[in-house]
Amino acid sequence: MSRGKANEWLAGGVCRVDGRLETAGVVDVTDPARRGRLLILCLLVWGLALARPLPAWDQHHTFTSLVVQALRQDMPVLRQPVKPMPLASFVKRHAKGLKPLLAEFHTWKKQIYPFPQWLLTPEMESWLGSPDGAEQLTESRFKYLLGIQETGLASVKFSMPSAAAALAPRSFGAWLQYFSDEPDWGMDQGLFGKGDPRYTDIPYGDIDKLSSQAPFHMYFGNENLVTYGARPSLKQSMTLLRFSLFQRLASFALARREWFWGARFLGCALHYLQDVAMPYHASALPYATVFTYLKYAVVKDKQKFLADNMQLLSNRHFAYEAFAYRFMTLAGDRIGAVLPEFDAIIGRSREAARADPVVAVSDEQFLASILKRVAKASYKHARRLDKVIGKTFEARLVKDPTFDPASNDEFKVDSWFTESLLEDWASGKTFPQKPLFDEFRSDLIRTIEATTILVTRLLKPIAW
Ligand SMILES: [Zn+2]
Repeated sequence: MSRGKANEWLAGGVCRVDGRLETAGVVDVTDPARRGRLLILCLLVWGLALARPLPAWDQHHTFTSLVVQALRQDMPVLRQPVKPMPLASFVKRHAKGLKPLLAEFHTWKKQIYPFPQWLLTPEMESWLGSPDGAEQLTESRFKYLLGIQETGLASVKFSMPSAAAALAPRSFGAWLQYFSDEPDWGMDQGLFGKGDPRYTDIPYGDIDKLSSQAPFHMYFGNENLVTYGARPSLKQSMTLLRFSLFQRLASFALARREWFWGARFLGCALHYLQDVAMPYHASALPYATVFTYLKYAVVKDKQKFLADNMQLLSNRHFAYEAFAYRFMTLAGDRIGAVLPEFDAIIGRSREAARADPVVAVSDEQFLASILKRVAKASYKHARRLDKVIGKTFEARLVKDPTFDPASNDEFKVDSWFTESLLEDWASGKTFPQKPLFDEFRSDLIRTIEATTILVTRLLKPIAW
């Protein structure tokens, strides 16, 4: 079966998902054989897509810190000490400006996002649309409009040796690193299927698990017609929406010299952008091939086949994150030796962010286009990367569905990924895992570029 043939099946096909009949076009599906093939594909895509998504890059601050270190010399704002401020104080102080910002965001959201998610109650809509009543913007209402959990954006607590250390201000850059992990701390979890009027059925992921945050952290804007036809809800990602909102809030806070909330909102915006630089967060089915579909069609126990493949997909995702984290931990301060073009990457990304475009566009438009480009490049890289992962890691991890690395201490990248192996790679030597290092290189560069562009673009008005 060629991809063209599969496209023909699903171009505007019909798929029963969660008991609902979803129709998206005009293809005749009355032919029983064709309907059978279609159903197989629907079930497979439904089952495989986003099996158990994990946090994307495990520890976003490892990427953010590289960029902060590279930029801090030229951007004094990154070095300045910043004290935490409670969210309630920030909202109260700036309610008059925040209300129109949120109104503008929700108007834009309605224009570009036609799906029944992140909805507002009629009362909230009318309040947001009225010019008055800014004083009613409480911390709780602010979070409601941000679409996040009530527990999100909580006060920061550190387990530091002394109260004095906990109160010591961190630099703007340090906060930025720290908060680039924040969206993984729970603010996007458990929002679907719990009676929250803002969110309806979960488009993908599991409402009771970590993967309930998947619709905010995984972006599938580049799938082919086969995948979309089989699973239309993949189009409902809200990553771009979250990214844009936090980027707007960061610009707002920075323009008012609110450094703590400027760093925190910018850190969150960075998170969503870095997420889509991770191929497993930008491609729903890197693992499934035409042979997977064919095999599914002939196996007897289809439930087991799906469950097994979900586990394998999840394992590969897990393995890649473990590899990336190990790489970042070892490369750390000597990134220049490991990635000789690091300074050039930072330089060209800064120029891209600083240059005034020929056609004047807003920061929102410019940055939304960056996110889309990053996601597209990750999507394109996913299948090739997945193949290398399939060849690099031990067979039980990538081929044995009974092995779950997340609940098994036996899987450790550290045992073979040593410091000397990183040095071997940096010096161009050949070794069995080298292809994986080479593939990671492009994901690393993409993540560094995207991070540099966003930080530079937002700090541009105040950094020089
Ligand atoms: Zn994430």
